[in-house]
Amino acid sequence: MKQRGLLLVISGPSGCGKGTILKELLAVQEQIYLSVSAATRRPRDGEVDGVHYYFMSKEQFQAEIDSDGMLEYTCYCDNYYGTPRKPILEHLEQGDDVILEIEVDGALQIKKQYQDAILIFVMPPTLEELEQRLIGRNTEDSQTIQKRLLRAKEELKLVGHYQYIVINQTIEDAVKDIQSIIRAEKCHYNPFLNCETQPKSK
Ligand code: 5GP
Repeated sequence: MKQRGLLLVISGPSGCGKGTILKELLAVQEQIYLSVSAATRRPRDGEVDGVHYYFMSKEQFQAEIDSDGMLEYTCYCDNYYGTPRKPILEHLEQGDDVILEIEVDGALQIKKQYQDAILIFVMPPTLEELEQRLIGRNTEDSQTIQKRLLRAKEELKLVGHYQYIVINQTIEDAVKDIQSIIRAEKCHYNPFLNCETQPKSK
């Protein structure tokens, strides 16, 4: 019997390094699919439609919600972000592990629907460092950076809902931490998997 893939949710404040960690993880981990979200914000320099996000208007986003096309969605700093349902379910069925890189509200929506989803929170070493990283990457104006920092503080309050915390001291260690989590989760006993090996009822 084919084993369903793991559903991994990775959150962490904007600027904590999630994107870089996931890029490195994908380069070394097999059979893993990174979900491409839909978003109504403007693409940053170098971002490609269909690769980094499916960039869409608010109307298109609403149409996706109305047709039940989103597994979860939220409004984050004045823009909508959501996870397209179909590719996630298909990859899980194929046995691929699936990663959603989403914020806290979306992560909690996923956990409600899939109790076996694995929630991982990536932390910056300090809030000061987070601010420096947000300023340093030069992709947002100062007002947006302040909004994102406020949101980060709110998100940090909800870290107790996550099963794992990864502190991004170095990208290399953070990637290893996530690989270890995946490995451990694959060894977890799950009574709903491999049902043939369970004792049959009389
Ligand atoms: P950014 O604008 O920096 O690309 O993303 C802003 C925030 O939105 C990040 O915390 C990111 O994890 C989150 N995000 C990206 N895609 C999704 C999604 O599909 N759903 C939810 N709930 N959050 C998302």
